[in-house]
Amino acid sequence: MRRLATLCCVLLVLGIAMAAQPFDADAEAKAFIADHEARIRPLEKLASIAWWNANISGKDEDFKKKEETQNKLDTMLAESEPFAKLKKLKADMPKDKLLARQVEVLYLQYMEKQVDKELLRQMTAKANAVEQAFNVFRAKVRGKELSDSQVREILKRDRDSGYRREVWEACKLVGANVEADLKALAIMRNQAAKQLGFGDYHKMMLHLNEQDQGKVLALFDELDALTRGPYEAAKAEIDAALAKQYNIAVDQLMPWHYQDPFFQEPPSIFEVSLDDTYSKVDILKACRQFYAGIGLPIDDVLARSDLYEKAGKSPHAFCTDIDRDGDVRVLGNIVPNEYWMATMLHELGHSVYSSKNIPQTVPYVLRGEAHILTTEGVAMQFEKFSKSAKWLESMGVKVEKPEVFDATARKMLRNQLLIFSRWCQVMLRFEAALYANPEQDLNKLWWDLVEKYQGMKRPAGRNAPDYGSKIHICSAPAYYHNYMMGQLFASQVHHALCREVLKVSPNEANYTGNPNVGKWMKEKVFAPGRTLPWNGLTKFATGEELNAKAFASDFGK
Ligand SMILES: [Zn+2]
Repeated sequence: MRRLATLCCVLLVLGIAMAAQPFDADAEAKAFIADHEARIRPLEKLASIAWWNANISGKDEDFKKKEETQNKLDTMLAESEPFAKLKKLKADMPKDKLLARQVEVLYLQYMEKQVDKELLRQMTAKANAVEQAFNVFRAKVRGKELSDSQVREILKRDRDSGYRREVWEACKLVGANVEADLKALAIMRNQAAKQLGFGDYHKMMLHLNEQDQGKVLALFDELDALTRGPYEAAKAEIDAALAKQYNIAVDQLMPWHYQDPFFQEPPSIFEVSLDDTYSKVDILKACRQFYAGIGLPIDDVLARSDLYEKAGKSPHAFCTDIDRDGDVRVLGNIVPNEYWMATMLHELGHSVYSSKNIPQTVPYVLRGEAHILTTEGVAMQFEKFSKSAKWLESMGVKVEKPEVFDATARKMLRNQLLIFSRWCQVMLRFEAALYANPEQDLNKLWWDLVEKYQGMKRPAGRNAPDYGSKIHICSAPAYYHNYMMGQLFASQVHHALCREVLKVSPNEANYTGNPNVGKWMKEKVFAPGRTLPWNGLTKFATGEELNAKAFASDFGK
């Protein structure tokens, strides 16, 4: 009886609603999503396959196909009619939460492509011009042209400060070559943002990624406060070691002494190399064993993957979910060293957080990671084990002097993360300020930030567009901060897992052989897919919104 009465009430309410309001948002949303899937899903799969093939073969025809498929997809998302429908749905959201979330995600996906076509064409042309300038640029020192890797090699090994300075200054000259184009590009990007109703391009890009510029900057302020002291302590150690290497006083250290042209990576200052241990490790076997042991087997991924070097193939590494139906693959170029152990743990970390472990009940539109920062976070959470002797030994690998390995590896990891976090501060703040006012003195802004966050000295009297020598500002704009937020996510999830499952302190944790790790990760991190926005997922998994505390307690205070 009760059920019947309830049903009648529902019908009554529905009847009234239908009479008063002819637009049924739930039904409209359902129809839109079905149509979207029918039109876009096959193309998304083709685009993923084309991308995979191009990276494996390196052939012109495969790259052409990749570009064509991507353009086709972009054109469909740029159509104004479906976007108008989405706008209407956004204003009058479906009541069903899952439908509403899909509308939100699709709205942002289509919105990104709604920029005026002529402006988009000009922006692409400018961005290509800058990239081209990067590709053809060679640093020229004492009449000799140097490739990018030669520059890096010299900055890594040469002991002559005067020569280092020449090489460093020469490699920064690309900034002057692209300065005018980059400024013009920033102004055009701002125009595009204004067309879509945003204050500037940086604010728009963050919004499209479900982030708020003010909140991200506040998070980076918190990170700054928590890591400043530990960073300064780590840098003092590095400075002392470098000064000794170059046979100069610490206060004579200049940007060209830090090996990486931007000091985004730690200089090598340790006697011990982790590669000695890894030269004897079967990396694939270790990955297979590790992931199976934590209840997240990856044999199916490896079977579809392309893992070793060959001619024409991309030299990097990535993981891709081809169809959101479980076809997940990794591209790698494995050689037995620590870098590739970490990289394979990283890429396979992406692979377990994919449609392989997100239930089919999650609708197609939402069947992927919550955000780029959450999948980077998971990958980095697993990657760190390559720097633990305890982990290696639990995998059956004999480590010669485990205390020495651990002491070195721990410092390497600490230096790497602290240095990277300070560098990300510079990138985020520079990009936010660049788009807020592209006409300001950008040369000065860049060095003000480098001094403040990285603690490197500005060469006396230097007035050059050094920011322009970082290609990401052109080709991956307003993106860099996500790597750092991924690190915060990795630490925060690791702490929650230690608290709730492993019951050990975070710096003692070893996941090896514990299937409860995979079970918890599946339930708390993977299963929601994109049904939750990234910060909602962070709260669901860890009980708190994303913050810098766990990271700082791992690598800082
Ligand atoms: Zn990654």
